[in-house]
Amino acid sequence: MLRINKNYIKLKKNYLFREINEKVEYFKKKNKVNDIISLGIGDVSMPLANEIVEKMSTSIFEQTKKQSFKGYPPEEGYLFLREAIRKYYAKRKVEISNNEIFISNGAGCDVANLTDIFSKSDILIQNPTYPAYYDANFLSGNKIEFVLTTEENDFVPISPKKKKQYIIYLCSPNNPTGQTMNKLQLQKWIDYANETKSIIIFDVAYEKFIEGDYPHSIYELKGAKTCAIEVASFSKSAGFTNLRVSYSIVPFELERENIKINDLWKRRQSTYFNGVPYHLQKGAEFTLGDIGQNLCDKNIDVYKQNSKKLCRVLQEKGLKIYGNKCSPYIWFKCPNQMSSWEYFDFLLENYHIVGIPGDGFGECGKNYFRFSCLGTKEDIDDAILRLNKL
Ligand code: PLP
Repeated sequence: MLRINKNYIKLKKNYLFREINEKVEYFKKKNKVNDIISLGIGDVSMPLANEIVEKMSTSIFEQTKKQSFKGYPPEEGYLFLREAIRKYYAKRKVEISNNEIFISNGAGCDVANLTDIFSKSDILIQNPTYPAYYDANFLSGNKIEFVLTTEENDFVPISPKKKKQYIIYLCSPNNPTGQTMNKLQLQKWIDYANETKSIIIFDVAYEKFIEGDYPHSIYELKGAKTCAIEVASFSKSAGFTNLRVSYSIVPFELERENIKINDLWKRRQSTYFNGVPYHLQKGAEFTLGDIGQNLCDKNIDVYKQNSKKLCRVLQEKGLKIYGNKCSPYIWFKCPNQMSSWEYFDFLLENYHIVGIPGDGFGECGKNYFRFSCLGTKEDIDDAILRLNKL
């Protein structure tokens, strides 16, 4: 008899962003309000630079000529993009080979799909967490444990005392807390993983926002290649959330049961994934060159300015904030002991501002709130004007 996976039914109600959208739509209809500012979903707002789009459009026109027409892209990505990524890492003295890089259509997909190559596993996830880590593993029936992050540990995850083999999700700079692990903190996780034969899935979707002496890649640290897979994305670094280009690095040294994880991931991708379109990979390659990097940095600067201004206002109101310096997210404690959903309603009803209740990212977020600074300068300025009336 055909049976559906009941975990889909159990999870359905919990989908955070849909729940928020429904609440906002209901509020708008009921109160005939249209001037809602969203500091909620972490999507980019700055348009792409002409040069990046030109690169993609000239690349797609190659498909009109017999000599340059292309069929299926290679599953692991075109060599030109993998080579550009290799050089990007080499600038930071991280040596990786082209064949350790796998181009994909989203870090969101890879963080979920990577566990396909393991049988049912114990998963260790930070609480609060980016929901996709939890949802994907819940759906596939993996056993999930949490590393609690709170005010006491500054919302930075600390490796457990209990020695156990896990697939460990780490995200730095972090979504939702914006906190970034320093070298010592990350090294402890690497040592833990090597000791317990765990595997770390290290999500660097917000790497481009880092300021100061924090690791941009887990492979800057000793021992990472025997225990970590790094997942990166062009979504936030280059504004490609619509275009869908990302990559994962699976080192040759990473083995379990004498089998190279790199071989398994290659096999998995060649079965389930038919590659990212040529012109999108050309666009992504361009963003890693000097001109492309400058253009992308200009947009990142806008988000960073947004974050600085918004932080100042929240701090002036006496709120304790986390994140912001190395990420586009501001994580803060709700005022007046409000729960995060109470604060959500308060902001929506009184100021027509939408943020994300920390509760939606896990228990440890129940009195916290996340603002995203990926909106336009105009929206952030308008939100600041409204918040100043608080
Ligand atoms: N990882 C983290 C931590 C994210 O916050 C996001 C998106 O918000 C993703 C991955 C998804 O990235 P992509 O757009 O490449 O799927």
